[in-house]
Amino acid sequence: MDMLKKLFSLEGKVVLITGGAQGIGKAVAEHIAAVGADIVIFDQQAEKAQATADAIGREYQCRAMAIGVDVTKPEEIAVAIEKADAEMGKLDLLFNNAGIVIQKPAIDLTSDEWFKVINVNLNGVFFVAQAFGRYLIARDKQGAIVNTASMSGTIVNYPQQQASYNTSKAGVVQLTKSLAVEWADKGIRVNCISPGYIFTELTSFVRQDWQDLWKELTPYKRMGKPEELAGAVIYLLSDSSSFATGTDLIIDGGFTIV
Ligand code: NAD
Repeated sequence: MDMLKKLFSLEGKVVLITGGAQGIGKAVAEHIAAVGADIVIFDQQAEKAQATADAIGREYQCRAMAIGVDVTKPEEIAVAIEKADAEMGKLDLLFNNAGIVIQKPAIDLTSDEWFKVINVNLNGVFFVAQAFGRYLIARDKQGAIVNTASMSGTIVNYPQQQASYNTSKAGVVQLTKSLAVEWADKGIRVNCISPGYIFTELTSFVRQDWQDLWKELTPYKRMGKPEELAGAVIYLLSDSSSFATGTDLIIDGGFTIV
């Protein structure tokens, strides 16, 4: 039991989580705190992120802070990393998770809508990973990064129309592999998770008939819960995955295999 606990422990680590104010980021942040880490949340919803951090700090008796950050702004990210480092004393691990979706037929998508999705989901993931990589490399520190991609990075899920989203997530999978190779000799592992349909605020607004179809097409006949991703993220952040890098872990109730 002790060995198992040690294998998945994040005791003594400080974990940065983007998009942690709600949804998947929040649920995973809670579990990360439960296995012993202190947490820092970057989210553009500053007040909500602070409330989440406060609640997690109280519940798990850990240090937890939040900073209002827009992940599409590299200067904001750099300043926030310095601030988090100053307050927490260090940063060790990153769950790079903030993302958005716009569902609209490709033919009607405006250039602003296209840019917005690519900017948050792909550029934002790169900017945060780059800033975090710079932070670790400048201090000669090893670490691990988990990016949130999506099963939509490898399949086109019908009937929803989300060309920008699918393209951005395919980019995250390939970015993950690229950084994994570039930073392997620095001891920085970079992996991603590809969730299937998970019930969060992001998906709750989707048309009910589409949600019903998602469930029907998923072998588990339901949507996933955000907390069902926590084990995968903790595995990829912890020493238990010390030989895993460039991996894309699909967690989708079987959707992509049928
Ligand atoms: P959510 O909308 O509930 O949470 C996303 C969080 O990201 C929010 O707190 C939001 O404020 C934050 N955010 C958005 N844009 C930001 C920006 N520019 N800067 C900083 N923070 C920003 O969504 P979720 O369902 O929890 O999704 C989290 C991640 O999981 C996303 O990358 C999403 O694409 C991915 N994902 C979700 C599902 C699903 O079914 N919910 C499936 C696959 C992948």
